[in-house]
Amino acid sequence: MRLVLVGPPGAGKGTQAEVLSRKLGVPHISTGDLFRSHISNQTELGLEVQSILDEGALVPDSITNEMVRKRLADSDADHGFLLDGFPRNTAQAKVLGEMLAAAGHDLDAVLEFRVDEDVVVERLLARGRTDDKEEVIRHRQQVYRTETAPLLDHYADKVISIDAVGEIDEISERALAALHSLRAEK
Ligand code: ADP
Repeated sequence: MRLVLVGPPGAGKGTQAEVLSRKLGVPHISTGDLFRSHISNQTELGLEVQSILDEGALVPDSITNEMVRKRLADSDADHGFLLDGFPRNTAQAKVLGEMLAAAGHDLDAVLEFRVDEDVVVERLLARGRTDDKEEVIRHRQQVYRTETAPLLDHYADKVISIDAVGEIDEISERALAALHSLRAEK
């Protein structure tokens, strides 16, 4: 399956992606994790994006799109993937659409994780990543609302919304159930 996960910072996309990746047998590709790994390895790309991540702003599309293009070319993504954190705006979504179309593929679904903003601020402050300071979190939420949420209209008929408040297992079950009924429809 080729899936995109969308949801505000702290919606638990990364946690759910780990579970779904195991259950569905497709790689979890998180652009945030890819950037953080470049930063900790102090690669050229890492040095370039470090301050952007610390501010909670978006990395320029040119950098992000190329990083994703390379990652999707790895053979483990041939038969599917779970994209977490990409696309994050409609321009990235267009580029992803072109990349997939060039290989004769399409997305199966876009999973939206819905959660109230105030709940997630608490969760994120507890996590304590370097970009998990209240001010930076609020900025990332703002970026989500203006840049990323429009993807839900862009992908309209592919979107499956999941209530992301509750226990981790419960939320995974909701997501898997939604994906099973999607498969049954096909
Ligand atoms: P969260 O979902 O909690 O905001 P992520 O790990 O998905 O965290 O992303 C962390 C940061 O990485 C973002 O704030 C942004 O700076 C950068 N980033 C991740 N994905 C993208 C993307 N698709 N486009 C631009 N920047 C991105």
